[in-house]
Amino acid sequence: MKKLTTFALLMVTFFAAAQQETIDQKVNALLKKMTLEEKIGQLNQYTGDNSATGPITINPNKQAEIKAGLIGSMLNIIGTKYTRQYQELAMQSRLKIPLLFGQDVIHGYKTTFPLPLAEAASWDLQAIELAARVAATEAAASGIHWTFAPMVDISRDPRWGRVMEGAGEDTYLGSKIAYARVKGFQGNKLGDLNSVMACVKHFAAYGAAVGGRDYNSVDMSERMLFETYLPPFKAALDAGAATFMNSFNDVNGIPATGNAHLQRDILKGKWNFQGFVVSDWGSIGEMVAHGYSKDLKEAAYSAITAGSDMDMESNAYRYNLAQLVKEGRVSVDLIDDAVKRILRKKYELGLFDNPYKYSDEKRAEKALNNPEHRKAALEVAQKSIVLLKNENQVLPISKSTKTIAFIGPMVKEYKENMGFWSVELPEVDYNKWIVSQWDGLQNKVGKNTKLLYAKGCEIEGTSKDGFAEAVATAQQADVVILSIGERRDMSGEAKSRSDIHLPGVQEDLVKAIQATGKPVVVLINAGRPLVFNWTADNVPAIVYTWWLGTEAGNAIANVLFGDYNPSGKLPMTFPREIGQIPIYYNHFSTGRPAKDEDSKNYVSAYIDLKNSPKFPFGYGLSYTKFDYSGLKLSSTKIKSSETIKVSFQLSNVGKVAGEEVVQLYLKDKFGSVVRPILELRDFQKVKLNAGESKTIEFTIDKEKLSFYNDKIEWIAEQGDFEVMIGASSADIKLRSDFELLAN
Ligand code: BGC
Repeated sequence: MKKLTTFALLMVTFFAAAQQETIDQKVNALLKKMTLEEKIGQLNQYTGDNSATGPITINPNKQAEIKAGLIGSMLNIIGTKYTRQYQELAMQSRLKIPLLFGQDVIHGYKTTFPLPLAEAASWDLQAIELAARVAATEAAASGIHWTFAPMVDISRDPRWGRVMEGAGEDTYLGSKIAYARVKGFQGNKLGDLNSVMACVKHFAAYGAAVGGRDYNSVDMSERMLFETYLPPFKAALDAGAATFMNSFNDVNGIPATGNAHLQRDILKGKWNFQGFVVSDWGSIGEMVAHGYSKDLKEAAYSAITAGSDMDMESNAYRYNLAQLVKEGRVSVDLIDDAVKRILRKKYELGLFDNPYKYSDEKRAEKALNNPEHRKAALEVAQKSIVLLKNENQVLPISKSTKTIAFIGPMVKEYKENMGFWSVELPEVDYNKWIVSQWDGLQNKVGKNTKLLYAKGCEIEGTSKDGFAEAVATAQQADVVILSIGERRDMSGEAKSRSDIHLPGVQEDLVKAIQATGKPVVVLINAGRPLVFNWTADNVPAIVYTWWLGTEAGNAIANVLFGDYNPSGKLPMTFPREIGQIPIYYNHFSTGRPAKDEDSKNYVSAYIDLKNSPKFPFGYGLSYTKFDYSGLKLSSTKIKSSETIKVSFQLSNVGKVAGEEVVQLYLKDKFGSVVRPILELRDFQKVKLNAGESKTIEFTIDKEKLSFYNDKIEWIAEQGDFEVMIGASSADIKLRSDFELLAN
């Protein structure tokens, strides 16, 4: 049997290799027929002329360029009709090389899923993979071959607007999620009708922009780069990611787009990446503004030599590469390498067999209206919600409540629930397609419950004119739900904010409503961690809803009424105040460690603020309670070739079923470089019925004990370690020491 399996495996590998060979042969044969101009054309990507809402008129120059084989890829062409229209032009070119259609399908196509950061709060890798799968299915049926996702940038700065698009601050969680997302987008293999190519972005360290200002410089040690920022990229590559996107920022003084160390040495060298790298939008051209390249020609030179294969919207390759080749500064081999990488993907997608394969009206119709997709959106949305506070058992709200007041600027919004980076299709009436928070509540309550509404105030602005009506409405109710937060366009690209308190007068509205003495539940809609101290300290129940997408209203209602027991945990630290940023759980210890509660006595602390966060990484409540007990280690001394089994009992000691994300943290007590005070190294999301107990087991191996030393070697050093099992990074329930022996 074993022999047979090995044989079968060998055959699969052999056929895969044979197929790859034929693709390579086809690519080489095609390359031989191509002029230099046509080759450079493949490296050129332009945006479409159609806005999301308007009809399409293809600019005559662009038409001519496509027919002349001078464009290899287009982005922002939405739908089967338009992608087909563009592809028809490419089919009139001499070599009929199909166009690639790329699109930012970040968290859904027609069915919008929660923001990527929100999904990360689910800590549910299957759910996250499912969300990407549904997005891929819908996009691929609509003519899209390639999504510019996942964004895997680690960020420790909630001022940075793009934290909404990633998986938060932690490298381990971020890596697992990066892997799941690539699997979800790409499915089993490129070329499947329900798959799109993933594009892992932004290579690299974009999330570490100084001051959290988008596009800003990044200056970091090589060790930090390898240990904290690169692993999610590597995980995405291990999942088979077909493409990478480089980045706007400079890293240690060299723009990522022209950074040979990142793209040639690490990505294509050390990691042996065989796919292609696309620049970020105009990022080749931006090297001029960076003060790195004298002009567009020099920018083209730096980008291509550094390993950027495709030029998104800079026009740098299109107008300069031929000249650079003529001058002997860029070799044809270098161009050929980039072209081959792109052509290979076009073959793998099956576009040479049928360039219209993905633009299928009937399939799109079915995929875009598949009720299973809505179901998935609901499932993922409710899993992404984080219960931050629940005193006096205000939640869940009883279904027999007579009068509920639903107040706030978010209650009756539709599109807002989609958040930033959502695809907007011209044919969709989003006021019908999205379940607003009001609709969700209405769907939930019975005839005997009266629902009252008042807006209260706008998200931004200073007017309190609506407060009186809101207070009067609250006074008539048994329970008040208040939905506030950011507008969806307040987080996202170029949406960095210096002030991440609740915008406008919303916290004053909370105060006014809380003063009525009614039980209050606050829902906070946002694309990042916000600061809302008064609310956090005074309101009994707080639910962080982020932006949840198409099924937002139903997901929120399910949680409010206990039809879904919240299970999300924060993927980012929530600061007490902006002055604490960057704040993250896995920091080093200083020689004068600060103690949270009396930080004044220690040097490494602010004299006016505790060091601890408002809500820590990994934190989130449930309607039930979990008890952790009986930690056992299979051994307390191991060699690096051995493993330790860590086990404990998890019990649901509350009254309802629930899910708990149990988190395993490690601390290397001393090392050749200082190690974080604790680091997430594993987790499981466990479902238990009321009264149920389960033995949870983790395995610690050498990999989990390893880190990058100062020579950037991934090693495990002998010595003392501590293992911690927690319900969050700040709520360690069980701990034990062990030792790694010399081998
Ligand atoms: C963003 C990328 C995005 C690209 C194409 C850029 O501004 O940084 O993440 O994929 O635009 O829309």
